[in-house]
Amino acid sequence: MIDSAPPMRHSKGLFDKETAMIPSILPTYNRAPLSFVKGEGAWLIEADGRRFLDLGAGIAVNALGHAHPKLVAALTKQAEALWHTSNLYQIPAQQELADRLVAATFADTVFFTNSGTEACELAVKMARKHFYEAGQPERTDIIAFEGSFHGRSSAGIAAAGSEKMTKGFGPLLPGFKHVAWGDHDGLHAAIDDHTAAILIEPVQGEGGIRPLPDQCLKGLRALCDERGILLILDEVQCGVGRTGRLFAHEWAGVTPDIMMVAKGIGGGFPLGAVLATEHAASGMTAGTHGSTYGGNPLGCAVGCAVMAEIATPEFLAEVNRKAAFLRQRLEGLVAAHPTVFEAVRGMGLMLGLKCKVPNTEVVQAGYAALVATVPAADNVLRLLPPLTITDDEISEAVTRLDAAATALETA
Ligand SMILES: *Cc1c(COP(=O)(O)O)cnc(C)c1O
Repeated sequence: MIDSAPPMRHSKGLFDKETAMIPSILPTYNRAPLSFVKGEGAWLIEADGRRFLDLGAGIAVNALGHAHPKLVAALTKQAEALWHTSNLYQIPAQQELADRLVAATFADTVFFTNSGTEACELAVKMARKHFYEAGQPERTDIIAFEGSFHGRSSAGIAAAGSEKMTKGFGPLLPGFKHVAWGDHDGLHAAIDDHTAAILIEPVQGEGGIRPLPDQCLKGLRALCDERGILLILDEVQCGVGRTGRLFAHEWAGVTPDIMMVAKGIGGGFPLGAVLATEHAASGMTAGTHGSTYGGNPLGCAVGCAVMAEIATPEFLAEVNRKAAFLRQRLEGLVAAHPTVFEAVRGMGLMLGLKCKVPNTEVVQAGYAALVATVPAADNVLRLLPPLTITDDEISEAVTRLDAAATALETA
């Protein structure tokens, strides 16, 4: 504890070459000058009482909104009982969450992580180890797609491959190949005797809300089967009810071998997971992987509460109903502001507005109108509201986006 606030080291909060002073928080983020002190469902509240409608949900994390009573209860109950033991021991909440995920999905087995990035690390290790143990140790290559995002670790940036994420960070983790989004021939050509897996987001999030058509996902599954390689789906952003199914791949009626999950699964508590079939996970025996915090009692208690809410047909039907309502309202918004917006895209409550003005300007105008949105690549404005947003809140959010667009038109 500090008794009085230490003197501010740098008033601008930005790195300044003249004074060579760096802010006390490493300046890797471009933060908005907003700071919230409370959350209630789909609302974020500033200290001065200003209430923002939250269409970002902490980047698809607060799937059940802020301060959901069942999540607060689950976390509080676990916090009063036991915080942490490490994976040296059995963790009942972890077992329950694994059983719930296995029961609800294609998976036979689950490993828990703290983040999506860590899930990416394991997904890559698992695929490589699978072939190593299967007597094909040369199969180490992962084929990934341009515009993808898989986290910021060495494997994550090597998987995404973009110059923006990799430049200056030295030799990249080898064994990744990149194919343009939608380049069918390029994908076929990239597969060879060194290929272990194809890694793809069913709906690109950071890349600008680009859904992979069902036909393509079916085609990828068939291709992987035909060539004897694994299909890894990154559902860190599009999973856990976001698209109106528990996991986005369910729309296409095919299943992966390995799936990365995070964000929504913890509802705001840091939690991620790798789900896999027994076949894909066959190389991951005792001692081959671990995590101090992964599957911690607090995170798993919250994860169980999240699954109990979201993994029901009734909840998912509501997501789809509300998604259709929001989409219809957004189509109206695009039609009303043709100089600001171009089109609506996405699935479920993972929607994007392709912008004609810079998306960051729309985000700013949204803040002025008390609605929070998230920019994505390809000049897209991302809308990822809590899955619990109400119809009235959807209407109010679109009214605020309309005000933001009007302000941009008259600016
Ligand atoms: C956010 C994200 C990640 C990385 O997750 P972190 O929890 O930030 O490490 C990976 N893949 C996708 C698709 C994501 O959206």
